This record gives sequence, C-alpha cells and structure tokens, in this order.
Amino acid sequence: FRAHRLFVDAPLAVGTPATLEREPSHYLLNVLRMQEGDRVLLFNGRDGEFLARLAGGSKKAAVLDVVEQTRPQPAAPDLHYLFAPLKHARLDYMLQKAVEMGAGRIQPVLTRHTQVSRVNLERMRANVTEAAEQCGVLAVPEVAEEIRFERLLGAWPAERLMIFCDEDAPIADPIAALKGAPRGPAAVLIGPEGGFSEEERAALLRLPRVLRVSLGPRILRADTAAVAALALVQATLGD
Ligand code: SAM
Repeated sequence: FRAHRLFVDAPLAVGTPATLEREPSHYLLNVLRMQEGDRVLLFNGRDGEFLARLAGGSKKAAVLDVVEQTRPQPAAPDLHYLFAPLKHARLDYMLQKAVEMGAGRIQPVLTRHTQVSRVNLERMRANVTEAAEQCGVLAVPEVAEEIRFERLLGAWPAERLMIFCDEDAPIADPIAALKGAPRGPAAVLIGPEGGFSEEERAALLRLPRVLRVSLGPRILRADTAAVAALALVQATLGD
C-alpha cells in the first residue's frame, strides 16, 4: 500500500504515541480527511520510518499510534551539493531535485557573480523536508547556511572530491572521468547564472581533489545543470 509520508520533528519509537504539530495535523485531518485507524508513515530524519495509525487528538494536535518500524535509518549519503543561490521558483525547483537526486547536504555558496545575496534558510529547509516526504528519503539533507566562496575553499577538506561543473571545461567523457575518480566524500558545485570568475576557476583547480566536468556543449541554466550533474554522479559514484 502507499501511505502518506510525514516528517515529524520529534523522537519516534514503536509504542510511543506521536503528537503532530498544527500544520501536519491540519493536513491529515482537514485536507486528507483521515479517519481514526487510517495509516500514515512517519520519519524524523534520525530514527527511521514507522507505520502509524491515527488515534485521535484534536485538529491542532493529531495523535498517532506508532505501530511498526518499516525501515531503519540509513546513513546519509556523503554527497554535498553546493550552488550559487537562485531566485524563488528556480531555487525551489533546484532544491527539490537535489533531494530527489541524493544530495546529503545542501549549501548555498556566494561567488563573485552571484546575484542573490540573502537566502531564506527556513524556506529552503521547508522545501527540502517536503521533497524528502515526497520521494521517500529518510536522511533529510542538512541545509547549511550560505558561505562565501573564499571561505568555503579556505576550509576545504583534502579528502573531499570537488566535482566542479564548468561550461568552459573541455568537452570530454564525464562518465569515464567520474568512474575514474577516487571513491569517498564528494561535492558537486554549480555556479551562478554569470558563471565563475577566472580567479575562482583557478582556485578551484588548485584543490587537492578536483574534477572539472563539462556537461556538454550547451550552456545549461543552473537548475538544469544541477539535475544533469547529480544524475551523472548518481549513475557513476552513487548507490
Ligand atoms: N557563464 C555562463 C554564461 O553566461 O555564459 C553561464 C553559467 S551557467 C548558466 C550556470 C552554471 O551551470 C555554471 O557556472 C556551471 O556550473 C553550470 N553549467 C552550465 N552549463 C554547463 C555545462 N555545459 N557544463 C558544465 N557546467 C555547466
């Protein structure tokens, strides 16, 4: 059966009833019109996934009996997704796709040509949680605060592979390049609409583990490039 999957920000354990907050309670009772005994899947990003049944409570605080663990908590994928922030709808799209494509941690990076300087972390986190609910990811990706490009590179851990997506990279076989890359922690970096500056490109290429990747001869919009790059990474390095 396919039950609705809901994120709850509370510990979950079989036998301990879960009380939902106002918004998810409203969603279950008023939007989905669930009745007592109806089933829903709960996860909290820490304890795995559980089958629960609506037991009562009020329209502002629905109570569910947690009856069975359906999946254990998996380890979060060690794939960081780094990107120059975009505006509204395209940012929402990009985040949703990053979760679906298996990013484990998501962080906006402010580069020289980034036009968006303030990001709404709360909105980003809400989008990421919603995407996880929809696509069945149990390890909800962490959304880290935005960071300046120079600071990011200054503290870059030597063992993490930087998959640097660059429309100016020589067109070569990205599948072969990724397959030949060292296994282990990795990050995908997508630049802003204005692209990377020459200084930024040079700094990226000085990292100890870096793979400069072309996604083909056309210039992709940043949100398209994100999907293409993460799909390639999943197909070659992913699980
Ligand atoms: N500098 C570009 C221009 O205006 O000509 C546009 C940058 S592109 C819209 C935004 C980002 O998507 C780039 O910084 C890069 O990370 C990624 N990207 C787009 N097309 C790509 C391609 N063909 N190969 C690799 N990365 C690409």
